[in-house]
Amino acid sequence: MKEQLDQLLQSALQEIAGTKSEDALQELRIKYLGKKGALTALMKGLGTLPAEERPAVGQIVNTVKMQLEARLDDALACVREAAKKERLETERLDVTLPGRRVGRGTKHPVSLVIEEVSEIFAGLGFQVAEGPEIELDFYNFEALNFPKDHPARDMQDTFFVDDNILLRTHTSPVQVRTMLKHAPPVRIISPGTVYRCDSDATHSPMFHQVEGLMVDNGVTFGDLKGILTTFVNQYFGKGTGVRLRPSFFPFTEPSAEVDIACVMCRGAGCRICKQSGWLEILGAGMIDPEVYRHVGYDSESISGFAFGMGVERIAMLKYGIGDMRLLFENDVRFLLQF
Ligand SMILES: [Zn+2]
Repeated sequence: MKEQLDQLLQSALQEIAGTKSEDALQELRIKYLGKKGALTALMKGLGTLPAEERPAVGQIVNTVKMQLEARLDDALACVREAAKKERLETERLDVTLPGRRVGRGTKHPVSLVIEEVSEIFAGLGFQVAEGPEIELDFYNFEALNFPKDHPARDMQDTFFVDDNILLRTHTSPVQVRTMLKHAPPVRIISPGTVYRCDSDATHSPMFHQVEGLMVDNGVTFGDLKGILTTFVNQYFGKGTGVRLRPSFFPFTEPSAEVDIACVMCRGAGCRICKQSGWLEILGAGMIDPEVYRHVGYDSESISGFAFGMGVERIAMLKYGIGDMRLLFENDVRFLLQF
C-alpha cells in the first residue's frame, strides 16, 4: 500500500511537471483527486488493512493528497502567469502609431444653396419662415388665387392625400400662413421641401424652393427688381446681368420670369444657355389683390411682391452640375466635392 502510494505520487508529480495548459492541469486534478480518481480508489482499499496499520497509512494518504493539491495549485498559478505575460507581450500597444482618421462629411449642395441664399436675404432684412409639408388646399391653392377647377391648378401636378389635404407643391402656403398671423410690414423668405407628381431627367417628385415675400406701404416693382438684382450680384458675382420677362402666376400681377446672364459663357451663348446667353432662375411678381383679400390685408393701403426659385436649379448653375439626379443619388464621391 505504501509503495503504491509512493508510485502514484511520483507519476502524478511527473505528469504535473510536464503539463503546460490550464485545462490539462484540471484534468490531472480529476484523474488523481476526483471522486473516481486514483488516490480515491487507493483510499477505498484502506478498509482491507489490519486495524493497527490504518492510522499510519491514512496519514500517508493525506500527505500525498495535500502534496498533490499544493503542486497542482502551484502549477496552475504558474501556467496562468505565463499566459498573462504572453498576452501582455502580444497585445502591447504602440502609442507612437498614427490614429485612425474619422471620415468627415460635407454639407449637401442643396443645404449649401439654402444656407447661402438665406444669409443674403437675412442681410436684406428678410426673416426665415417655415410651414408644414402636408398642407390644406386653402393655403396651397385657394388663398393664392387658384380657385377650385381653375386651369392654373394644372400648372402643378399635385400629390393629393384626400380632396382637401395635399403635399405642398410650393412653399407659398408659408406666405399665406405668415400674412394671416402678422399685420404688415412682412419681409420673409421660406426655404423648404416641395412635392410634385413629376419625374424625369430634369424633374424630381421631391425638390426644394426658396420663396420670398415683402409687403409694406408703397412697395413697388422697382423694389422687387432692386432686391433681386442685389441678390443675384451677391450670389452669382458682381455685375451679373439680370433681365425680367413678362410671365403669369395666379398669385401675382404683374408677373415676371427673372433671367441672369449665363454663368458659363457670361452671355456669349453656350450649350447650357442654349445659345441665348440667359438662364432663367426665378419667378416673381407683385402680389395679386385677391391674395390680400384672403388674408385680410387692405390692398388699397399696402403693396408687395413675392418671388420663388428652385434650389436644385440654382445649385446646378452655381456648381456646374449637369444632371439633377446627382443631387438625390447621394454618391459620396460626388458629395465630397462640396
Ligand atoms: Zn451660356
